[in-house]
Amino acid sequence: MSSIDKSKPIGVVGAGAMGRGIIQVFAQSGFDVLVHDANSSAIESALATIEKLLNRSVSKERITDDERDATLKRITPVGNVSEFKSVQLFVEAASEKPEIKKTIFKAVDKVLAGDAIRATNTSSISITELAAVTGNPSLFIGMHFFNPVPVMKLVEIVMGLETSDATYDKVHALAEAVGKTPLRANDHPGFVSNRILMPMINEAILCMQDGVARPEAIDGIMQLGMAHPMGPLRLADLIGLDVCYDILNVLHRDLGEDKYRPAPLLRKMVLAGRLGNKTKQGFYTYE
Ligand code: NAD
Repeated sequence: MSSIDKSKPIGVVGAGAMGRGIIQVFAQSGFDVLVHDANSSAIESALATIEKLLNRSVSKERITDDERDATLKRITPVGNVSEFKSVQLFVEAASEKPEIKKTIFKAVDKVLAGDAIRATNTSSISITELAAVTGNPSLFIGMHFFNPVPVMKLVEIVMGLETSDATYDKVHALAEAVGKTPLRANDHPGFVSNRILMPMINEAILCMQDGVARPEAIDGIMQLGMAHPMGPLRLADLIGLDVCYDILNVLHRDLGEDKYRPAPLLRKMVLAGRLGNKTKQGFYTYE
């Protein structure tokens, strides 16, 4: 097993819903974190969210004032990925679009050290396909965190066709070092998590579309009958309806089966800009 070196920073691109959680868990675990986002307001909002969550932990006496301050000090926004030269692990958490991710990896690959690990938090895009734009695919891996990152224990580690065992061991150790439970999957559309979850969410949306039950009843039935902590429609709102739509499109295209076709109601919600929690309007309304 790899030993963990906290003297070398972690680089994160994308400070949205997932990136900010990834930044927080690494910084809270003692790693310096360099952060870049194409949209500077995303960084400001990420830092404000992290500070708010840390303040909440202070008020619940889970961490001290000093620990909060030290965590915030470890996070450094950077204007350009050229500043990622010294990172041991680079995690990409930008939008779920292959072209965006490939452009980022092509740029970052030129800057990173020869042994730095290149990881993506993609929910569904092929790890092997993204690895192919980098110079050394054996160092490329899927590091799939779950939302909200500071709370959820799982990291689904996804092996591309050429990912080496040494890369897996290092990422496994890093995931454990930030208090997560890593579980291994191979590169296949949706990996394990979304191949099982997204058809369930899609079916819940089809139930709503067909008038089988109201959203509260659909979610209540899955919570009380199946012991799920959260119903599928509320979970879809939390993940982001655009993200769900993108993932279903990948499953539908790459696995080629009708059962993965996104529900027309999901498409309409995305076109209307009702994306769930992040726009305060999805299957439910949020204050
Ligand atoms: P998001 O839309 O909240 O954030 C994406 C961020 O990427 C934005 O801040 C955007 O400005 C930034 N970005 C876009 N293009 C960029 C570029 N070229 N360079 C730098 N930054 C850029 O999305 P999210 O929900 O945080 O998802 C991020 C990734 O995590 C996606 O691949 C998604 O599939 C995956 N993921 C999401 C969830 C979830 O529940 N939302 C769960 C697991 C994995």
